[in-house]
Amino acid sequence: MSSVRVRFAPSPTGFFHIGSARTALFNWLYARHTGGVFVLRIEDTDKERNTEESLQILLDGMKWLGLDWDEGPDVNGDYGPYFQSQRTSIYQEYLKKLQDAGRTYERDGAIFFRLEGERYSEFDDYKKCEIEKVRAAPQVIDDKVRGRVERAEEKDFVIFRSNGEPVFHFVNVVDDIAMGITHVIRGEDHLSNTSKHCELFRAFGAEPPVFAHIPLILKSSGPGKMSKRDEGALIEDYEQNCYLPGAVRNYLCLLGWSPKDDQEIMAIDEIIDRFDFDGINQGNARFDEKKMAHINAEYIRQLPLETLAWMVSPILVKSGLMDTSSDEDYFQDVLRVSQEKMTALNTLPSLIGYFFTEDYPLDDKTRSRIFKKGDPVDRVIEFLSTMDGVDEFTSESIDAFFEDLSARNGFKKFEYFPVIRFAVSGTGGGPELLPMLEVLGKDRVKSRLECFIKKVS
Ligand code: GLU
Repeated sequence: MSSVRVRFAPSPTGFFHIGSARTALFNWLYARHTGGVFVLRIEDTDKERNTEESLQILLDGMKWLGLDWDEGPDVNGDYGPYFQSQRTSIYQEYLKKLQDAGRTYERDGAIFFRLEGERYSEFDDYKKCEIEKVRAAPQVIDDKVRGRVERAEEKDFVIFRSNGEPVFHFVNVVDDIAMGITHVIRGEDHLSNTSKHCELFRAFGAEPPVFAHIPLILKSSGPGKMSKRDEGALIEDYEQNCYLPGAVRNYLCLLGWSPKDDQEIMAIDEIIDRFDFDGINQGNARFDEKKMAHINAEYIRQLPLETLAWMVSPILVKSGLMDTSSDEDYFQDVLRVSQEKMTALNTLPSLIGYFFTEDYPLDDKTRSRIFKKGDPVDRVIEFLSTMDGVDEFTSESIDAFFEDLSARNGFKKFEYFPVIRFAVSGTGGGPELLPMLEVLGKDRVKSRLECFIKKVS
């Protein structure tokens, strides 16, 4: 095992934002790529927002995406507890170290971290008073994504509030030291905190970890980063909308990282193999829901039939199209002929619903398009009245039968297709017609055509 130890350190907020998920994913990928350890640390010091439910949403989201952690809640490990709310005594111990080193002082009940450097005072235009400033040595960060970043802190900063609660910068750094974190991979919004963090690391006599600040995710159009209100921002919504977790994870990998050859759809093992800091882009990543949907559709098409069946069956049961007595072979046949046309699992009830009910709606647009080309009923009647002549009801035999029919009646074969499709399914699209008729079966096709004639005559 390598010595790499990375962590994902979320503050549970009641939703699992795509940006957080991507940070978790990049840490996980780096750990798996290097054979290191992936730690999940819950930064739950904000008591109001940190409910049991918020935590559950986060853990469920991680599990759904397949981001397993080696140390953290439910798994534990040698560096626990993994909840900041349970690490108070550790923070006290570390505070003592700073106090003993003379790096703290108290003012108005709060504890400040004292920077080292020459002190001077300067008039603050905003506060309209003299304030004390420090000429501290600049902290140089050799960021794996941003390159060299240099910044000098100018003011002492609070590490414990007057209510006794430790501040984010303090607990974050203490835990990274205490948990032996070697690489900090996090959103670029934390880059501006990093000089404070480096100050603290050094005050504790610790070398700062390697930093990699990953680009922000912008909303699909316009300026600004993706907020929780933007469509597609929450991981739990993808689960709700029956996206495939592997597809979402694949898409997230591409939000800010790309393999050198711009390949998009990749097995996770391949991504793990190829993931490294030099593939992470400096520029912000823009969320693209079409690309996400496209990748999802590709994943659906690649699913083994049994897996697809396992995923689709609860969706059809929920929408009342199937129940426990439904014919399993028929269901598998339906999936087999339709899989190629599937784009999203949550739209399946409307896409393939007609296979499972006689009460399928007739799509208005398709209807007017079909009727524009002359009354289709004659063609349906012709088809129906000669249908009995087909012994076997297979794609090939039905095709031959269409050929005969058109030779006899002066219609082209393809003038029958949309009409028959519309009559038996109510739609203008879907799986290829001949296999679809074969799956529906002779009896069902026959009775549907008869009903159709009655409905539209
Ligand atoms: N709790 C912080 C956050 O959610 C962690 C920042 C970090 O990764 O250092 O933004």
